[in-house]
Amino acid sequence: MYDSSNRRIHYLRLSITDRCNLRCTYCMPAEGAMIVPHASLLTYEEIVQLVQAGIALGIDKVRITGGEPLLRRNVVDLVAALARLPGLHDLAMTTNACRLPDFAVPLKQAGLHRLNISLDTLDPTQFAAITRGGNLQEVLDGIAAAIAAGFQPIKLNCVITASPDEPDARAVAAFGAARGLPVRFIRRMNTAQGRFWQVIGGDGGHCATCNRLRVSSDGRIFPCLFNNTSYAVRELGATAALLAAVQNKPTAGTASANRFHHLGG
Ligand code: SAM
Ligand code: SF4
Repeated sequence: MYDSSNRRIHYLRLSITDRCNLRCTYCMPAEGAMIVPHASLLTYEEIVQLVQAGIALGIDKVRITGGEPLLRRNVVDLVAALARLPGLHDLAMTTNACRLPDFAVPLKQAGLHRLNISLDTLDPTQFAAITRGGNLQEVLDGIAAAIAAGFQPIKLNCVITASPDEPDARAVAAFGAARGLPVRFIRRMNTAQGRFWQVIGGDGGHCATCNRLRVSSDGRIFPCLFNNTSYAVRELGATAALLAAVQNKPTAGTASANRFHHLGG
């Protein structure tokens, strides 16, 4: 699929839940996500149908995200169903890793290709502050489990305030280098203020080469994180919603009311 700016759109980011076990200050309100009524969540069957419709239109890359995707019940079944779809060349997940000690091996066996793991600091006190009470050791155990399960590559997502030279970011860079895990530095963004930057070491945040659509857990397709427009899969049908999102993808982001925990970052 090509949009009106002649960008090839082939990447779908699926948020499968707004809920999270952490409350990162830059992502989630202190009180947690508003609960999406269960009936509004796209079912796994609907998600698979949506991805199938996407593949028919040229989608070949899917990332499962959230909220925290490993909190959604039976997520391994969804991974297995997506991994079986012919035409999907890249199936990845972004996770905070806390539940990977239990899930790394089942996810690998289900056919997940790649993992991105969020890690902003190696200081337990700072980690607890950023995540409003999280336990860094759970993440470190999750990373170790992902390595042991044989995931390759495992990329680390590190949110920075201003520069990858910040002490926390340097520590994450050294941690990644020691284990052969590439690190992507993501400057803290603000959708309401329209503040976004290119990801350092990655390909996000660059409007001219943006290749993605986002799907919220309640089945709305957003052409851009920094734009309020969305198209509901249940109202329009998967194919029409995907086409509408591509045709109306803005040339560049501006500002929006979208929340990271709703649209998967
Ligand atoms: N819970 C999972 C995790 O943390 O990896 C997946 C969802 S999280 C919303 C996806 C990514 O968005 C994470 O790497 C997170 O650091 C990033 N993110 C969240 N809020 C952000 C913000 N305000 N600016 C930049 N990146 C952000
Ligand atoms: Fe949860 Fe990920 Fe948002 Fe942190 S960044 S609150 S781990 S969804």
